[in-house]
Amino acid sequence: MPLNKKQENTGVHRIRPEIQTLRAYTVQASDGLIKLDAMENPYSWPKHMRDEWLDQLRDVPLNRYPDASGSELKQHLRQTMNIPQQTEILLGNGSDELIQIVQLCLSGPGGAMLAPAPSFVMYEMTARFVGARYFSVPLCSDFSLDLDAMCNAIRKHNPSVVFLAYPNNPTGNLFDRAAVDEIIRVTNGLVVLDEAYYIFAHDSYYDQIERHDNLVVMRTLSKLGLAGLRLGFLVGPAPWVGQFEKVRMPYNVGALTQRTAAFALQKMNVFKRQAEFIVAERERVYAALRAMPELTPFTSQTNFILFRSAQMPAAVLFQKLVERGILIKNFHHAGTVLHQCLRVSIGTQDENDKFLQAVDECLR
Ligand SMILES: *Cc1c(COP(=O)(O)O)cnc(C)c1O
Repeated sequence: MPLNKKQENTGVHRIRPEIQTLRAYTVQASDGLIKLDAMENPYSWPKHMRDEWLDQLRDVPLNRYPDASGSELKQHLRQTMNIPQQTEILLGNGSDELIQIVQLCLSGPGGAMLAPAPSFVMYEMTARFVGARYFSVPLCSDFSLDLDAMCNAIRKHNPSVVFLAYPNNPTGNLFDRAAVDEIIRVTNGLVVLDEAYYIFAHDSYYDQIERHDNLVVMRTLSKLGLAGLRLGFLVGPAPWVGQFEKVRMPYNVGALTQRTAAFALQKMNVFKRQAEFIVAERERVYAALRAMPELTPFTSQTNFILFRSAQMPAAVLFQKLVERGILIKNFHHAGTVLHQCLRVSIGTQDENDKFLQAVDECLR
């Protein structure tokens, strides 16, 4: 937002111009609404698990700084997440922070970043924070990578980082592995594979890290059921992670988060079962949306479904759903590939029923 006269006198005009022109990330108010907008796991923990967790928190020394290296937590991650032996782990306050760390390290004067569009909004936002140039290459209309256009853009702009969300948000699909391999091959800088939805997709580039010098993989505990915790991790070759470590704030992952994450990782079966149920519900919701002639849902490997509204404008459908107590996300504004598209996260069986019922009423 441009500054007015009064603000200029306060010195606020010294804020970097590229920050002044940004809009702050807004989180839609959701009070009293069924919240199907943010890919959260709708299930909480069974009571006995909560009690066991609270017992473990009792003796966390809050007067002390947390373990700066997070070594115990990393041990747990290695054990439960099958992290390849010859790699290092970088911990972040959510993968959002990891994206920022990578970009801080790789921006530099004239640095460029590249990703397909549409993709996860944070890639572009944080690129702007660090003052990097950001280039995006439109996906094909079926949401696959436009490999020729990607490779041309990589040759032209020589980006220091290429981001690929695998599966992609907000489209929900996995990209063709041959196309991703080619992008890793032609990129001179780093390729970040963002596997935030791994628990639903079961497809990974972990086994490729040791075969490339320029590939790292990002994961998060958010989508598997711990969005409130804020823990992400990046897995990559030691030379890359060693550099990123220099930029990470020493205490970026708090003591409560470290202890809770270590506890939760030992209960991985609970989250896996929840994920299986969410996937089964996703297929049920997909089939129900498909049966509505006014809508076109797209297949998804995640815990959300993107769908197009053929007759009723997406903005109208969005608003009518809010009036019926349901919050999803409208992506119509996000470019031609997402023309009249909305995204719904999968909730509990009951929430999904209410969503489907409400959509049906809105379209009638
Ligand atoms: C939700 C999401 C993230 C954010 O993860 P946090 O760990 O919660 O910061 C990262 N990447 C993609 C593609 C996502 O959809």
